[in-house]
Amino acid sequence: MPKRRDILAIVLIVLPWTLLITVWHQSAINPLLAARKDDRHESRRDSQNTFTLKKPCSSENNKDIVEVVHTEYVYSRPPPWSDVIPTLHVITPTYSRPVQKAELTRLANTFLHVPNLHWILVEDSQRRTPLLTRLLRETSLNYTHLNVETPRNYKLRGDTRDPRIPRGTMQRNLALRWLRETFSSNNRHSQPGIVYFADDDNTYSLELFEEMRSTRKVSVWPVAFVGGLRYESPQVNTLGKVYGWKTVFDPHRPFAIDMAGFAVNLRLILFKPQAYFKLRGVKGGYQESSLLRELVTLNDLEPKAANCTKVLVWHTRTEKPVLVNEGKKGFTDSNVEI
Ligand code: UDP
Ligand code: MN
Repeated sequence: MPKRRDILAIVLIVLPWTLLITVWHQSAINPLLAARKDDRHESRRDSQNTFTLKKPCSSENNKDIVEVVHTEYVYSRPPPWSDVIPTLHVITPTYSRPVQKAELTRLANTFLHVPNLHWILVEDSQRRTPLLTRLLRETSLNYTHLNVETPRNYKLRGDTRDPRIPRGTMQRNLALRWLRETFSSNNRHSQPGIVYFADDDNTYSLELFEEMRSTRKVSVWPVAFVGGLRYESPQVNTLGKVYGWKTVFDPHRPFAIDMAGFAVNLRLILFKPQAYFKLRGVKGGYQESSLLRELVTLNDLEPKAANCTKVLVWHTRTEKPVLVNEGKKGFTDSNVEI
């Protein structure tokens, strides 16, 4: 039987320690709480992340434990529309294949960083597919969704790399027609714009979009991984004028430039209503020239990307992916939604 004196001694030893530990614990958690509350104020102000603090279930239970139970994103992309900078009308032809959704997701993620971007997505299909309708709606980008199917006799047969076969040409032409019908040249008050052809399989730096925004007629820049080179480029003299082309593939083309290597002022597109990409009788690599020769001469070209010394866009050739058969279902040539 412990003596009364012993009990008193134990209490006198334990009590100060208990008090000490409680005070120490409180002071450790308080600054943390204060920091969380500050966070909340900060994020409200600039519409970024907000934290919600979980209230303790009961006052007895875990009253010191505060955990973040919910992170709410206030979605702030694309950037707000501006009335003082030109709109970029970005035309993308696209066709159904297993990588289509991945390519367009990547592209949309890039475009979401660009102010005043209007995406004209043109499907090479009989009708607009629910897959892309949904994808576009969910991006929250400004977009126009069109479709036109390339007739079968133009479509690839056997050699998929046959350059005589137009890939995406009818789709780009439909977008040009749409722009002309939508922004009539008589409408002086229509917002200034730039037209750019962005295939769905390439990679675009954000800087590129700001370079092209000041295009007065046609601006040009290098494109990487094209024509068998690390990059193709317009050749620019000391006066900042384009005088030729650094390419190995047919440098005598009037405009030896890839689709990703130029942008056109919308006004020029409207003033030259006959200018389209030629569909028939165009030699391989002459697609771009067939449009540009209707719009400008070499002398008009405006070199961008530090006088064509920087690579801001990377071309990729779509190879048919080798797909593993997944059990009974397998992959088909159509999109696979997961
Ligand atoms: N494209 C299309 N229909 C086709 C083939 C291609 O709409 O039958 C699109 C494709 O999605 C891409 C552009 O046209 O945006 C250029 O096609 P691709 O990249 O295959 O051609 P390459 O770059 O090899 O010339
Ligand atoms: Mn391509």
